[in-house]
Amino acid sequence: MAAPQAVCSRRGCGAPAAWSLSWNNPRVHTPERRKVWLACDEHRAHLADFLGQRGFLKTVEPFHQHDDAARTPGGHGDVVRGAGTEREE
Ligand SMILES: [Zn+2]
Repeated sequence: MAAPQAVCSRRGCGAPAAWSLSWNNPRVHTPERRKVWLACDEHRAHLADFLGQRGFLKTVEPFHQHDDAARTPGGHGDVVRGAGTEREE
C-alpha cells in the first residue's frame, strides 16, 4: 500500500507537503472557489509570499500526510485473529 505522497507544489520540489495553502484568484475564480497548493517547510514562505503579494492567499494550515493512518491503532486488529483456530463449520 504505497500511496503516493502529497508533495510540495513548488516547481521542481518533491519534498513531502507539510502545509496546505488555499487561495483564490478573483479574476478567474468565483469568490467561494478555493485552489490549494501544498508546501514543504522550506517553500511555505515562498509560496505564501507569492500568493500574498497578489492578494490571493486565504489560509495556511498544517497538512497531515497520513490522516487515515492516525486513526488506525497499530497492530491490534491481528492479535485476535489466528488465536481461534477452531471453526464451527
Ligand atoms: Zn518544497
